[in-house]
Amino acid sequence: MVRYVYDFTEGGRDMAGLLGSKGANLAEMTRLGLPVPPGFTLTTEACRAFLAAGNEPAGLWEEVSAHLSALEASAGRSLGQPDDPLLLSVRSGAKFSMPGMMETILDIGLNDESVLGLAEVSGSRRFAWDSYRRLVQMFGSTVMGVDAAHFERALAHLKDLRGVKDDVHLNASDLAELVGTYQNLIHRETGEHFPQSPAEQLRRAVLAVFASWNGERARLYRRREHIADDLGTAVNVQRMVFGNLGADSGSGVAFTRDPATGRPGLYGDYLPDAQGEDVVAGIRNTVPLAELKHLDRAAYDRLLAHLSTLERHYRDLCDIEFTIERGTLWMLQTRVGKRTAEAAFVLAAELADEGLITPDEALARVSGEGLARLMFPRFDTSTTGTALAHGVPASPGAAVGTVVFDSAQAVRRAAAGEKVVLVRQETTPDDLPGMIAAQAVLTSRGGKTSHAAVVARGMGKVCVCGAEELTVDTGTRRFTAADGTVVEEGTVVSVDGSAGAVYAGSVPLVDSAVIRYLEDGRGGEGDRGVVGAVGRALARADAVRRLEVRANADTPEDAVRARRFGAQGIGLCRTEHMFLGERRKLVEEMILAGTDAEREGALAALLPLQRQDFTDILQAMNGLPVTIRLLDPPLHEFLPDRTELAVRIAAAEARGEEPDAHDVELLAAVNRMHEENPMLGLRGVRLGLVVPGLVAMQVRAIGEAVARRLRAGGDPRAEIMVPLVGDVRELRLVRAEVRRVLARVSEATGAPVDCPVGTMIELPRAALTAGRIAEEAEFFSFGTNDLTQTAWGFSRDDVEAEFFSAYLDKGVFPTSPFETLDREGVGRLVGIAVTEGRAARPDLKIGVCGEHGGDPGSVHFFHATGLDYVSCSPFRVPVARLEAGRAAL
Ligand code: ADP
Ligand code: MG
Ligand code: MG
Repeated sequence: MVRYVYDFTEGGRDMAGLLGSKGANLAEMTRLGLPVPPGFTLTTEACRAFLAAGNEPAGLWEEVSAHLSALEASAGRSLGQPDDPLLLSVRSGAKFSMPGMMETILDIGLNDESVLGLAEVSGSRRFAWDSYRRLVQMFGSTVMGVDAAHFERALAHLKDLRGVKDDVHLNASDLAELVGTYQNLIHRETGEHFPQSPAEQLRRAVLAVFASWNGERARLYRRREHIADDLGTAVNVQRMVFGNLGADSGSGVAFTRDPATGRPGLYGDYLPDAQGEDVVAGIRNTVPLAELKHLDRAAYDRLLAHLSTLERHYRDLCDIEFTIERGTLWMLQTRVGKRTAEAAFVLAAELADEGLITPDEALARVSGEGLARLMFPRFDTSTTGTALAHGVPASPGAAVGTVVFDSAQAVRRAAAGEKVVLVRQETTPDDLPGMIAAQAVLTSRGGKTSHAAVVARGMGKVCVCGAEELTVDTGTRRFTAADGTVVEEGTVVSVDGSAGAVYAGSVPLVDSAVIRYLEDGRGGEGDRGVVGAVGRALARADAVRRLEVRANADTPEDAVRARRFGAQGIGLCRTEHMFLGERRKLVEEMILAGTDAEREGALAALLPLQRQDFTDILQAMNGLPVTIRLLDPPLHEFLPDRTELAVRIAAAEARGEEPDAHDVELLAAVNRMHEENPMLGLRGVRLGLVVPGLVAMQVRAIGEAVARRLRAGGDPRAEIMVPLVGDVRELRLVRAEVRRVLARVSEATGAPVDCPVGTMIELPRAALTAGRIAEEAEFFSFGTNDLTQTAWGFSRDDVEAEFFSAYLDKGVFPTSPFETLDREGVGRLVGIAVTEGRAARPDLKIGVCGEHGGDPGSVHFFHATGLDYVSCSPFRVPVARLEAGRAAL
């Protein structure tokens, strides 16, 4: 028999798959002896069974009843008992935390009768009715499907009538009246009465939580976070404790360290006389956790002790939810806390220093994606005027965009290519699409643990919250700053999520401290801040990684920068960029040449220019390999646009003038060379084989550059790479020519010029015949952009804009195969080529030079497949170093 229910005393943190992370961690805290209200967990397996069958699996309810009876026995009262009701919370909790995405229902067990009993035993009518109205409201909206706005309107209406601002100023009779209003509302909207039976409340609440797994916002969140759709959620049923029992009660959230910076210290928010949901919802403004010290010293000290127990036990930053009921502290949740990229690095370094984790564990806890985020520019604070407002720096970074006031508008404008900043009083899970679309989120309410803050941090999105000086009016679509400045929708603002400030207009950006450190090594080892932490993580990664990291660079400037970033060579130097600008004319001449002599003339003019380019790059990368790729793109990319030319000629003719002769000649050439599918046309090695003299010129330029560097006492290590090879015979022909030319250069210069010749593997046929190709290739470099295009039959430029978003939505792939290598298909081709290439030539050097070389997920694949190096754009080099290290752990 499958078992669907576990008591909190039976589980543990390693059971998150079955009990969800909330349930597993509640069990862990129970085991640690922390004060957790008792309860039990219905497994994710029960949820999956429910979702598959459309109703609860056989035996589930008997198990729940048995656990409920035990809970009742230990409490000495029963669920909803009229004179002294046991009340329960029903809490969702999946394997991966999805803050606020699914439902939780509190105060299950109250009805028209037991509310009176609760009032009696608690000695507070107000508390009893407040709890009841929360239940009716939560149950009505999440279980019975009544639009939550109805309840909010009724509540707002009553507050208006009573002339009060806060819920806390409504008295017991007001709340009793509100319960009546709510119940009528439910009846009106659903034709059903709010269920008075506690057992029915429990059952329906549990099933509603199961069903919420497939709610729209939960699905959207999962897609965004790449969480599988078939995991299901667990449900935790737990005895209620009450933070809304007056001034000696309250609820709060806490972090064992600052989740924004990773620095030690106590961080959190506390709200007296409130239930937990009020803290996150930002309904009232919280006080900093430190205040609790003055409100309830004993509870504060106990909380601190528990936090330290948890951090030592989990050996990581934890966040927790707690409630104080008349002086008694209860722990309601813990988990390893979400954190900013900066905090992740600082925390890893500090925990390693404290001896809590090993250097390898520290490396495992940071990520290339996080590092990339830290390399983004920041605002130039010397040029910012006075801020419109300050708030809580909830998620760091710098963002500039136009202000919008609702999620739909954010989505609409972002889809049209606009950068937007979503401004709300506070966000709810319904704002998720807008938050995803926005560059930054700005709220006037809520702390570091508000919905906006938690979700933005998870997404790495800039967020400033609780900017109380702002008056946000979503109705008129404007906000007003403390100094009276009115900002209308559509106005540009700059949001500094690191400093927690908002500025009017677009503030200029400067390089981040991390970039400055990476570029010139200032700061680093001795630095206690984020720069030092990044330096230490990279040092560890360099010590353990097996993959080399090279850069894709076409200019000496890029080469120098790449080298500073730690590149161990250039894996791809594209020569086509050297054919642009002023040299275009020479290239044009080469293409248009009517005779051999004309073509040779043009090539001869290009030769010294290319030679100088290569000399400079080889000098910048002295002692390190530089893989130079022979010309790859179709020649007509170097000619003017066909339509433009045609229009120019037609316009001249329309004016009755003679069209420019050169234009006419060019147009003829463009027409002659026009291809329907240039990506699959005359390019790569094919050019080298059909355009006489092209390969010879490029190789000669490389050879002479090498000779010059040798004469200058340098250590040039040029490698010659042939693109788009599909068959070994293509490579054999080109390689023979390369050898001939290099021999001639050696002879002419007297310098021993020799360069390895290799090929790109970027066609499926090349991958499949890699064993043959390796006979002629001294190295392979996977061109994974082209290999992805040709394996899928996707033309990247056409499909990304056209239908990739539909494919992503429909789940055909979780991320674009141009971003993260498709292991199943393209990866298989890579694997075949590595195996067969090495079988034919054991010392074959193998790397990758597509965009994937700097993508964290792909780097792990390349490590596992046994490549020797990855090559990526200079800015991705530190990211690739870090991930190559993590892959080797
Ligand atoms: P989420 O996953 O969205 O945080 P939770 O299940 O943690 O949802 O619950 C929402 C709020 O209700 C939290 O603030 C939590 O602390 C509070 N809560 C949950 N269970 C109880 C309980 N047994 N007693 C008191 N408050 C509770
Ligand atoms: Mg929670
Ligand atoms: Mg290519």
